Amino acid sequence: MSDSRPNILFIMSDDHASHAISSYGSRINETPHLDRIAEGGMRFNNCFCTNSICTPSRAVILTGTYNHVNNVTTLSSTLDGRQVTMPKLLQAAGYQTAMIGKWHLGHGGVNDPTGFDYWNVLPGQGLYHDPEMIDMGERKTFPGYTTDLITDFSLDWLRARDLERPFFLMCHHKAPHRPWEPDDKHALMYEDEEIPYPETFDDDYSNRAAAAAAAEMRIDRDMNLTDLKQPTPEGLTPEEEKKWKYQRYIKDYLRCVASIDDNVGRLLDYLDEEGLAENTIVVYTSDQGFFLGDHGWYDKRFMYEESLRMPLLIRYPDAIRPATVNDDMVLNVDFTPTLLDYAGVEIPEQFQGSSFRSILSGQTPADWQTSMYYRYWMHLAHHHVYAHYGVRTHRYKLIYYYADALGQPGTIDDSKEPEWELFDLDADPYELNNVYCDAAYAPVVEELTAELHRLQARVGDEPYDHPTAAGTWKG
Ligand code: CA
Repeated sequence: MSDSRPNILFIMSDDHASHAISSYGSRINETPHLDRIAEGGMRFNNCFCTNSICTPSRAVILTGTYNHVNNVTTLSSTLDGRQVTMPKLLQAAGYQTAMIGKWHLGHGGVNDPTGFDYWNVLPGQGLYHDPEMIDMGERKTFPGYTTDLITDFSLDWLRARDLERPFFLMCHHKAPHRPWEPDDKHALMYEDEEIPYPETFDDDYSNRAAAAAAAEMRIDRDMNLTDLKQPTPEGLTPEEEKKWKYQRYIKDYLRCVASIDDNVGRLLDYLDEEGLAENTIVVYTSDQGFFLGDHGWYDKRFMYEESLRMPLLIRYPDAIRPATVNDDMVLNVDFTPTLLDYAGVEIPEQFQGSSFRSILSGQTPADWQTSMYYRYWMHLAHHHVYAHYGVRTHRYKLIYYYADALGQPGTIDDSKEPEWELFDLDADPYELNNVYCDAAYAPVVEELTAELHRLQARVGDEPYDHPTAAGTWKG
């Protein structure tokens, strides 16, 4: 008897911001194959991650819990695979499961992927060319371009699968993560073009908490030779040099994205050819967003929009109307309950997100979330971003830079003076004007602070105790 439960093809790239996808209105590139998913399904305009960095976001997706619960707070954390995870539950329910590509949650012992019939993953960040991969525990080197290889291996696994049972495949690209190395096929894309500059390219970080100016992810100052691939030309003015570096960076980034797009097209073509498109849920997302020259930056980590926002496109012709767009707030912690819901698997009580299956069907529940909780733990490491947490509603964003390492793995133990930011996203969509101390916003500050603490209590996290001369003060 054939099984009518949907197949699930979960495609996740690394650091692919939604403003570099044409169905999201990109001003800088075209992604025709990603757009096929949007045209055939639903595009989410307000999908956010709960911690904008690779390893933690992946842990949230696999475990359905926040990072203080799954214990993967920073890049130096590893996932203890003895926890309950989405693939384990799907495997136990009879799905055939595979994980191919970037894992980045540690390896060996309890950190190896679990819940997968087959896995073949990059060690750590992995390489763009001729990567070493860990194929069911065995290290092998494969010639070729990593984005192509991950797709090749995904297709190989799909072709060899048991046709009688549904599949769950996590196809995780390394691209377009730094250092943005394109393949030969796309190496000359955009060669004779000037890519447009974002509105906040020349941000001077005034009217913000100190954290913004302190961050070391500036295109003009912090990019290195590995990023740029050639020395900066002599004789440029500072403004010309910044633009030259942006063009070097963004073109390589977009070339890596173009390869992802082509390879997503190969997977979609396979589903079409095999008659699987109707009964397969196709998800395209990225572990977080990225600054594409926005605020003069590359990288992520901040709770600011470009970094917080995840692309999320979901196609499932049997249950989702084509070319639909949704503005409800959905989070990476909600992915797992949603996919389990479609698979008919009971959602474990400890999972902290909610299924948005009804939203995909066109019905937003009356009590659906209108606020979200965020926390970045990795104080100062790599790009000198202060540890912070905050709350975002549809209109406002409140951020508290508690700026303390708190003994978290991989952090730098050098506390800074805590600071708050409040942004009115209707009036100030680019978050250039912190109105935390503006008297007109005092009621909003009060309301959002209460909402922040309500969300912390709900997910089981705690406000920061700021040491002061008089004792401690809760942020
Ligand atoms: Ca990432």
